Amino acid sequence: MRYSAPRGTQDVLPRDIEKWRRVEHHVRRVCELYGYEEIRTPIFEQTELFVRGIGEVTDIVEKEMYTFPDKRGRSMTLRPEGTAPVARAFIEHNMFSEPQPVKLYYIGPMFRYERPQAGRQRQFSQFGIEAFGSGDAVLDAEIIDLAYTLYRDLGLNNCIARVNTIGCPACRPRYNEHIRNVLSSDLEQLCPNCRSRYDRNPMRILDCKTESCRTIAAKVGPIWGFLCTECAEHFSSLQDSLRAMSVPFELDPTIVRGFDYYTRTVFEFMASGIGAQDAIGGGGRYDGLIESCGGPPTPGVGFAAGIDRLLLAIEASGAAQESQRTLGCFVAAVGEGARLGAARLVASLRRLGVSADMDYMDRSLRAQMRHADRYRARIVAILGEDELRAGTLQVKDMNDGKQWEVSLEGAADEIRAFLQSAREQ
Ligand code: AMP
Repeated sequence: MRYSAPRGTQDVLPRDIEKWRRVEHHVRRVCELYGYEEIRTPIFEQTELFVRGIGEVTDIVEKEMYTFPDKRGRSMTLRPEGTAPVARAFIEHNMFSEPQPVKLYYIGPMFRYERPQAGRQRQFSQFGIEAFGSGDAVLDAEIIDLAYTLYRDLGLNNCIARVNTIGCPACRPRYNEHIRNVLSSDLEQLCPNCRSRYDRNPMRILDCKTESCRTIAAKVGPIWGFLCTECAEHFSSLQDSLRAMSVPFELDPTIVRGFDYYTRTVFEFMASGIGAQDAIGGGGRYDGLIESCGGPPTPGVGFAAGIDRLLLAIEASGAAQESQRTLGCFVAAVGEGARLGAARLVASLRRLGVSADMDYMDRSLRAQMRHADRYRARIVAILGEDELRAGTLQVKDMNDGKQWEVSLEGAADEIRAFLQSAREQ
């Protein structure tokens, strides 16, 4: 029996790890630059949290959750997204009594039982930010600005925010009514998914990816004329703030987002050249979420991006950087006695903070030199029986091929000093 990773999951191998770390490091740096602090929530939660938080009539809750009973028969779900868990933590730890807004970010795996394809997996990695406690449209703009800055600094230069509003529970029903009226004669032409959305959540028809639905939905027109005064003002203040922050954006009335918790601002970022799954991040305002998860009325706004897709986009844009394994010093040993000397030197180097390695496969000196080359070792220290007797060591700089002798006793310090001065040059 040969096992393989479950469908829709992947191993990130050592040769790719550098790319992941680069993005994760970058995410942390940018989030902290904007005043967001990291939070880590469990991988699974009570199922009810997602049903209430995300909404019953959503693709995720209807079809995509990994739900299982625990040993006591309680229903648990692997988290399909990060906002509801962070909202739960916000309430559970009384963060509403802290100075507002509370600004949080997370990075971690999410799970959705979707049909896997390029850029769409069943386990994928997301990072996200959430700001609770303020309804100010400037905060929405800050979040879009953060996302824009993050993408741009990763080399995705053509990335533009597509922005819309979906109003609030007071004004949205009028728009939903309008959608039903406009589409009533086209019901038969819609895909089965959209036909069921027609009654339950007609706004979702607007972001259906099916070509025929898109053509029909184009007749509906934007929500903008249906907004209540407060939502209209919020939307206009968002646009003013984005302009003030020099964040490029386009208004796109088809952005409606898939979760129930959104109110007012919604936005997405798309990447080119990565196929059908081109949404690399999205978010919006969710003023009703904390309350629907059992907390006091608290406005909030957030954003989430898939790291897997981000990596595809970076690759497609040509901004990927070759990652290379490098080593400070490879210690090549010839002869049994020299091996112990090599082990001692490698251990001393590592204690001094120099990355070091040696041969464990009984290779010849030539093969060890080749191996050192593969490791991209900057220095190779060569230790034979003769050197051991004389208490010396040959050191070779692999950059220019220069070789010199050092005393075995001071070798670790000397190699460290050499590498340090080489780095500073
Ligand atoms: P959502 O939580 O659905 O708004 O998705 C936010 C971002 O997560 C998307 O823009 C994608 O970049 C990423 N994402 C969502 N679902 C998947 C998936 N199944 N596989 C990979 N990335 C995903």
